[in-house]
Amino acid sequence: MAACAFCGYQGKLTKEDAWPTWLMEYLWPPTKGMAKTWGTGKGARGKWKVGYNLRLKTMTLCAECNNEWLGLFEKRSKAKLRGWISGLHGPVTRAELELLAFWAAKTAMTVDLAHPSGRRKIPADQLRELHDNRTYPPVGIHIWVALRVVRYPGIGHTARDFKFQYLDRQAVVPTLKVRDGYQVIYSIGHLEIHILGLGVWDADPLELLPDYVALLVSPDTPFYRLWPLNKVPILVS
Ligand SMILES: [Zn+2]
Repeated sequence: MAACAFCGYQGKLTKEDAWPTWLMEYLWPPTKGMAKTWGTGKGARGKWKVGYNLRLKTMTLCAECNNEWLGLFEKRSKAKLRGWISGLHGPVTRAELELLAFWAAKTAMTVDLAHPSGRRKIPADQLRELHDNRTYPPVGIHIWVALRVVRYPGIGHTARDFKFQYLDRQAVVPTLKVRDGYQVIYSIGHLEIHILGLGVWDADPLELLPDYVALLVSPDTPFYRLWPLNKVPILVS
């Protein structure tokens, strides 16, 4: 019997859109119809298909995780997200940063669960950790956001996993260990989100992926750090 990917509950699971329903309807309003939104012609039909395929269904969540836990985050985050997606910017409170970091992480996870390839890029323990945390992302996740100058038409998504070596400083004698990491990038309209999941708090992303992370943290970068909120000491060096 299948079990809920977040809490491990074995029983009846619910069918849920991987991308939140409100987001799909915001990008492709049902009243307009997708074909109308994108116009007609060959190129437009190609984009229409992008929107259609993103309505992935996942059967891997229990009703409690879906409705009582994750559902509340959708309600609380969508106003701010709609603004960012349409290119609006303005002051963001600390509580909103935490909320949106959580949203970014959980959305990366539900999309990963629903991916047609079936091979998951995000390790299962990350989903359990998100569930245990309830309101904030797992340890070792780094999230950056930027407002795109050029609007992305619809939703773009890419994910990969990788192995990395890291020096475990908690051990009596610091030892090199191999860990699973993952990288998820998605673009929705004017919003772009980059997620790097390392699973340990003291692995330095700049050390692991110097070229990529340098673009996100350079002085003139358009990216803002969404998570962690407090600079990890090791990043200050
Ligand atoms: Zn559950």
